[in-house]
Amino acid sequence: MAAACVTARIAKTVRNGLQCGLQVRPYSSAHAPSTASSALASGFNFELTDQQKEFQLMARKFAAEEIIPVAANLDRTGEYPVSIIKKAWELGLMNTHIPEHCGGPELGIFDACVVTEELAFGCTGVQTAIEANSLGQMPVILAGNPAQQKKYLGRMTEEPLMCAYAVTEPGAGSDVAGIKTRAVKKGDTYVINGQKMWITNGGKANWYFVLTRTETDPKVPASKAFTGFIVDADTPGVVPGRKEMNMGQRCSDTRGITFEDVVVPKENVLIGEGAGFKIAMGAFDKTRPPVAAGAVGLARRALEEATKYALERRTFGKLIAEHQAVSFLLAEMAMKVELARLATQRSAWEVDHGFRNTYLASIAKAYAGDIANQVASDAVQIFGGNGFNSEYPVEKLMRDAKIYQIYEGTAQIQRLIIAREHLAKYKV
Ligand SMILES: Cc1cc2nc3c(=O)[nH]c(=O)nc-3n(C[C@H](O)[C@H](O)[C@H](O)COP(=O)(O)OP(=O)(O)OC[C@H]3O[C@@H](n4cnc5c(N)ncnc54)[C@H](O)[C@@H]3O)c2cc1C
Repeated sequence: MAAACVTARIAKTVRNGLQCGLQVRPYSSAHAPSTASSALASGFNFELTDQQKEFQLMARKFAAEEIIPVAANLDRTGEYPVSIIKKAWELGLMNTHIPEHCGGPELGIFDACVVTEELAFGCTGVQTAIEANSLGQMPVILAGNPAQQKKYLGRMTEEPLMCAYAVTEPGAGSDVAGIKTRAVKKGDTYVINGQKMWITNGGKANWYFVLTRTETDPKVPASKAFTGFIVDADTPGVVPGRKEMNMGQRCSDTRGITFEDVVVPKENVLIGEGAGFKIAMGAFDKTRPPVAAGAVGLARRALEEATKYALERRTFGKLIAEHQAVSFLLAEMAMKVELARLATQRSAWEVDHGFRNTYLASIAKAYAGDIANQVASDAVQIFGGNGFNSEYPVEKLMRDAKIYQIYEGTAQIQRLIIAREHLAKYKV
């Protein structure tokens, strides 16, 4: 799928969407003057590029037409959204980071955030299934050699395949250095044994990024003790477990995976023995901003649903939006959505421009994850008794929101990172 082809398809889809009379307005330019001053482009500039606006409009139309109508049913059944993923793949709404030399569009993290917010507005279960591909791909994008990239990223541009990032284990999540899955070198191969847990796309992936321990000496630092592999899902000994029934994002496929004497060629090692920990952790600088964007999309949906409801529901002779307590709650929710988006976009912009964004990515992820939970809970409050019921859209949002404080580093781990980065600026 060549980049030019993807862009042309996007432009066509957006045109079609607009011809259908879809009411869409780009967020960041909602209050922008009709002609952007070229002077703005050189400094602080909150206007999206024309291409970003096209992506945003297309993703918003896709969420409205393809995701929202089926989201409640996917939540009820837990069914994996195969047909939605196929359509998203066709439109170029997923795998946006894949380099051009592998047939991908090689878009930036900022671009991915723009798309992700829109998909998450539709359903974060679908968005997480799609986003897990970026997480699985990122170690290969960052650390893969050209042959590995061509083989494993290239195939994802030829058909709608999924991949997964397999690091967490039953005994170690936050404490990544505590993982126990072992890889032992045997000739030109490695043999992997161990157990992974909570792997998104675990039962749907065509291949996995797998973090293993290769060093037996416990005194060797984490930066040298682990090795990252690409493992084909059909390798004998790779056994995905049952689909886990989670509180929210229920159409996303989360599983444990057992590795039993899995033989992997040495060509599938990323960079080299001992480099795995840095690769696995380094991916987060690029994947946390889109995860934060997902949380923003969910919070924006909760705000929109609550606002519409507050403008319809009447108590004591007036709309509930006219009670100051309710309108102030909506104001607080709006403040949180706007600020979380700014933090997300800033962290994405930094990494796209080659700056180290670890601090800002953790701020964005922690803040967006927290406010998604607060805003979804406030939306349930505004709906009153109806908010507690699954016939209305907001209880799903409240359940879906929780995971943003857990995966890709918990809310507590983000604070550890933020504190470490902050204090480092003051230490000599
Ligand atoms: C739906 C879902 C999808 C997931 N997808 C993936 C995936 O695709 N790939 C993958 O590898 N993993 C995935 N995960 C795993 C996820 O990243 C971990 O669950 C998460 O990192 C937390 O690890 P844990 O569950 O082991 O909790 P623990 O690490 O045991 O933490 C338990 C609690 O203690 C707190 N805590 C731990 N250490 C500290 C500390 N030093 N200071 C303060 N508080 C601390 C945590 O914040 C948390 O509140 C997924 C999890 C879920 C539920």
